[in-house]
Amino acid sequence: MDLEAYEKLVHSEAAARRFLLGFCWENHQRFCPRCSQRRLYRLADGRRRCARCRYTFHDFSGRWINHGALSGQQWLRLLKLFELEVSTRKMAGQLRLAYDTVYKAVTTLRLAILAHAQDGPALLGGEVEMDETYFGGRRKGKRGRGAAGKVPVFGILERDGRVSVEVVPNVRAQTVLGMAVKKVRRGSIVYTDRFQIYDALMFCGYRHLQVDHRARFARGRVYINGLEGFWSYAKERLMKHHGISPVRFPLYLKELELRYNHRHADLFTLLAEYLCDLVPNLG
Ligand SMILES: [Zn+2]
Repeated sequence: MDLEAYEKLVHSEAAARRFLLGFCWENHQRFCPRCSQRRLYRLADGRRRCARCRYTFHDFSGRWINHGALSGQQWLRLLKLFELEVSTRKMAGQLRLAYDTVYKAVTTLRLAILAHAQDGPALLGGEVEMDETYFGGRRKGKRGRGAAGKVPVFGILERDGRVSVEVVPNVRAQTVLGMAVKKVRRGSIVYTDRFQIYDALMFCGYRHLQVDHRARFARGRVYINGLEGFWSYAKERLMKHHGISPVRFPLYLKELELRYNHRHADLFTLLAEYLCDLVPNLG
């Protein structure tokens, strides 16, 4: 979205809400966020009540955007700053909101990104790279596999395509292969290094090619530089958020996955769409 279009949106609360409501209700067709019923009663205060389950709701009820007490204009400004990777503290200053308010809103946005990612995107395929790495840990030394106090992460990268990264409980063959078969189309060509956990890939329906890191040069297309590039991008970016707790780490990881996968897209509009998603398991 260009700057002029953005400025029109945040110029008035009515314009901001209209834009956001467009992501909530396709063609203005309201339905019950709990049971999807389309027969609704309109209440005097503007809210609606479901004819089936009696749930009473307003336009943003049950959606991520409803968490955080920000106006439509404030949300859109926050999305713009988030797109530009402005820190939470600077956002608070620019939006003239309390740090805690902005921190909660940004966390809500990251939760929306995480939920959307778990919606099950299309399978990766073609030529893919798989690799595992560790994030965090204060001390240097003890690097690489088996490093204590670090978060193991498994990644799959489609050459010239998308990346999928996930925090894993461990980097054993069973864990890693279980994720591989869920995310990568059978028949794909999979590149890995020579770590033995990948040995069984050929039995999972993949053509498996290994890179030898000891070799001075990668042979032809047998390299995993794409994913290694993503790891260094992610690690550099997460340096900015030093001291991320292990509980919140997956949120930051999914944000980076999103930024990478939509590096050519309009992130602002995409974030607005995610923010207007219904929160899963609404009870
Ligand atoms: Zn209902």
